[in-house]
Amino acid sequence: MKKFIEEFKAFALRGNMMDMAVGVIIGGGFTGIVTSLTDNGINPLLNFITGAETYTLQNIAGFGSKFISDFVNFLILAFVLFCLLKGINKLMSLGQKKEEAVEKISTKVCPFCLSEIPLEATRCAHCTSVLEEK
Ligand SMILES: [Zn+2]
Repeated sequence: MKKFIEEFKAFALRGNMMDMAVGVIIGGGFTGIVTSLTDNGINPLLNFITGAETYTLQNIAGFGSKFISDFVNFLILAFVLFCLLKGINKLMSLGQKKEEAVEKISTKVCPFCLSEIPLEATRCAHCTSVLEEK
């Protein structure tokens, strides 16, 4: 049991939690649509065919509008999630750009061979010239 918990912990930490959360939400929404389709489409149809129940036009319209509203809810959920993910991706790429900028400042140009070398270098890696301290 302890090993199981450790394995689960490793899985949860390694796995992309955001992807997992999106999967769960979309999966839940999709299950809702399938349930709605069963409740408002297949079951009434089966009842009608087998003669278990008789439906009025109003009943059928009710089923239709119920399914459409469930479907629209799912679309809205997916759209909101898409916008959220897009925003998060943008934030992440902004963070990466910042890291790149920091990396640029951490290099200098060798005055002898004009190659880019680390800021802390005291000897050029390209032409092996000894660099004077500033
Ligand atoms: Zn050099």
